Amino acid sequence: MPCALVHYHELALKGGNRKFFIQRMVQHLRNSLRHHNGIQVDSLPGRVKVSFQDGTPWTAIEDGIRHTFGVVNYSLAYSLPIDYGNPDLQPLCKAIEAQLPTQSFHTFRVTTKRADKRFPHTSVEVNREVGAYLHEITGKPVQLHKPDLTIFIEIVDHTTYFSLNRQQGPGGLPTGMSGKVVCLLSGGIDSPVAAYRMMKRGCKVTFVHFHGRPYLSRASEEKVRDLAKHLTRYQLYSRLFLIPFGEIQRQIVLDSPAPIRVVLYRRMMMRIADHIAEKEQAWGLVTGDSLGQVASQTAENIQVVSEIPKLPILRPLIGMDKIEITNESQQIGTFDTSIEPDQDCCTLFVPPHPNTKCRSHDICKAEEGLAIQEMVEAGLKNAELVEFSC
Ligand code: ATP
Ligand code: MG
Repeated sequence: MPCALVHYHELALKGGNRKFFIQRMVQHLRNSLRHHNGIQVDSLPGRVKVSFQDGTPWTAIEDGIRHTFGVVNYSLAYSLPIDYGNPDLQPLCKAIEAQLPTQSFHTFRVTTKRADKRFPHTSVEVNREVGAYLHEITGKPVQLHKPDLTIFIEIVDHTTYFSLNRQQGPGGLPTGMSGKVVCLLSGGIDSPVAAYRMMKRGCKVTFVHFHGRPYLSRASEEKVRDLAKHLTRYQLYSRLFLIPFGEIQRQIVLDSPAPIRVVLYRRMMMRIADHIAEKEQAWGLVTGDSLGQVASQTAENIQVVSEIPKLPILRPLIGMDKIEITNESQQIGTFDTSIEPDQDCCTLFVPPHPNTKCRSHDICKAEEGLAIQEMVEAGLKNAELVEFSC
């Protein structure tokens, strides 16, 4: 039966959390690969093994593994049973020879890890003997630093595994280790990256989007649905709340001075998101704010917005600039959707000269003239829930 070996990060595993961490990752791999027949995911000492049936395409298995947080690296692995009575490494050498890549490589190295100390050779002995054999049959030199090909050998409980093509995983902590948060997803470049970063730290993320209907088209909603669907690949199930915000904005425009409107919109969003988070049993709110990016994200305005929710606002991108965020959105695959043109509700009724230094006192005074409670209730009542599963 073919298999993959999956490695996780030891540092995250200190103390009593180790077992829990591994179990979460194993469960996530099982859920992620459940559509394929005959999948078996086992925790071995220091790594996880994913066994699958002959004929299941490696690309499908790989797709599930590389979307699992906690995975630091993984590879397609070949296995041989260990015969403790016979220390001959020839069968291993021959098996590796049969799998050597057909494409050219100029240099190689062998890297052995021996988790099973009953194995009669040390790691160094295995490296030397297998390396010498491969050198003899291929004529290629061993190069320890940056070789073209690394052959990984892992000796674990009764079995020797080897693999030729180790890939990087996403790292982070397995989904669900860090509870649930609610992310305000705008359809722009930043907030999907913020959501991804929290997922990577082990959070399950529920999404909330405020759209400008009936005054704007469905474009922002469609984008946000695509983004939520894309990110669901990492957590397998997501909930997205779509909140009509156009009417709320119109009322704010009618009853408040233009320069502070953006902050008033943001505070309304926070009130509604805070309620949703409570119902979702989330412990925090997430935004894609980056310090100083636009008027709503100056030091002063961030503070005034932060006064509103009961829950903490998490801003994983606060210290990043737009180039860094854009690069990350390209890496995680949300960029192309994020830059599709749309009409975000924030573009609706935007004042030409927003106040970049709003003061709490002035904002609270302006809010006295607004029917805050009714607006929150209307937002919650008209919320539409969309579910995604993967
Ligand atoms: P993004 O920050 O996602 O690229 P943006 O830059 O257009 O979009 P900003 O004006 O920077 O949005 O808004 C800051 C943050 O406020 C967003 O990252 C998002 O978390 C939240 N936000 C803004 N508009 C909305 C919206 N319409 N629905 C949900 N959240 C929003
Ligand atoms: Mg932004």
